[in-house]
Amino acid sequence: MTDRRKARTWAEIDLGAMAHNYRALKALTPAGCGFLGLVKADAYGHGAVPVAQKLQELGADMLAVACAAEGEELRRGGIVLPILCLGQTDPALAQDLLDWNITQTVEDLESAQALSRVALAAGKRLRVHLKVDTGMGRLGFLWGDGENGSALEKMTALCALPGLEVEGMFTHFAAADEDETYTAAQLRRFLEAKKALEDRGLHFAIYHCGASAAVLHYGQSHMDMIRPGIALYGFPPAPGIEAPGLIPVMTLKSRVAAVRPMPAGSPISYGCTAVLERDSRVAVLPVGYGDGLPRSLSNKLQVQIGDRLCPVLGRICMDMCMVDVTDLPDVAPGDVARIYGPGLTQRAADQAETIVYELLCQLSRRVPRIYLDGGREIR
Ligand SMILES: *Cc1c(COP(=O)(O)O)cnc(C)c1O
Repeated sequence: MTDRRKARTWAEIDLGAMAHNYRALKALTPAGCGFLGLVKADAYGHGAVPVAQKLQELGADMLAVACAAEGEELRRGGIVLPILCLGQTDPALAQDLLDWNITQTVEDLESAQALSRVALAAGKRLRVHLKVDTGMGRLGFLWGDGENGSALEKMTALCALPGLEVEGMFTHFAAADEDETYTAAQLRRFLEAKKALEDRGLHFAIYHCGASAAVLHYGQSHMDMIRPGIALYGFPPAPGIEAPGLIPVMTLKSRVAAVRPMPAGSPISYGCTAVLERDSRVAVLPVGYGDGLPRSLSNKLQVQIGDRLCPVLGRICMDMCMVDVTDLPDVAPGDVARIYGPGLTQRAADQAETIVYELLCQLSRRVPRIYLDGGREIR
């Protein structure tokens, strides 16, 4: 266990807050609607195994990862829930999918054929979900507003491949957080593809479409299972989106390493981009871009010490940054600064001209994750 009392910088992961978000999202769906929790990219930087364990305990139905290796990590960590791999898996790695019991997304006939061959040779069946591209322009059988005969033939052929068990079918919305008309068109195309396959006698157990934006705002897209990521971690998918009651799960904290009085006119940090306008007290925080704090927040970020926001002075370095604590005369080495967390993360993302997702995902390995549940430290 990482001792929070010794860490220079650490992220507190409040699994109780995640449980709250899980229940808040469940409450938006009808009884019987499944819950797939997104734990790709190390659970958006929160730590894949502990987050998956909590989701398993809460009663989630499935987890999703981006690649087979992320699925393997969960299995090694003792996770028994079904795991869906959303990305392409090279047929050379198909044996891993079978060994670790990972469900694979299939998005074209050729890779499905290759997976089928590997499964047959192993004498096993590989569970797969069919991916339809209804307008995301990423992966999947293209289903547009024109002629879709070729996609239909290929999906039909895929369903007949030996060694594969098609359990589900899904699509992904490109603009559910900003364009209602576009999202409605994507949903209509998905339902058309579903119907076309059903007309051929091909029915699947699980149809799913909704990531966080759709979970929050397109109830008609919930179908058999919702697929939220960012909302589970406490944030709306875009700042303008209403997401009442979600609680940010991660709080990034750092401990003041030094406080130094410095005279007006002193330049601060690389490039001397900040020059003190008054006699100041400058605190050094042992957190920098090597911890995942974007350097683009130089001269912009504000960190919270006590109940005050303190501006970062000058460039963020790899391992440290400096903040102005002139107006907080009591700040001393060892005091804790909050960098991300409720009220802070979204603002930092805005200042860095990025999205919360990116800030969370890029928190580096150097930052220990400390898990809390019900206010108590666990594990
Ligand atoms: C990442 C991802 C999600 C989750 O998206 P959020 O916006 O974080 O809810 C859902 N589905 C797919 C296919 C994804 O890649």
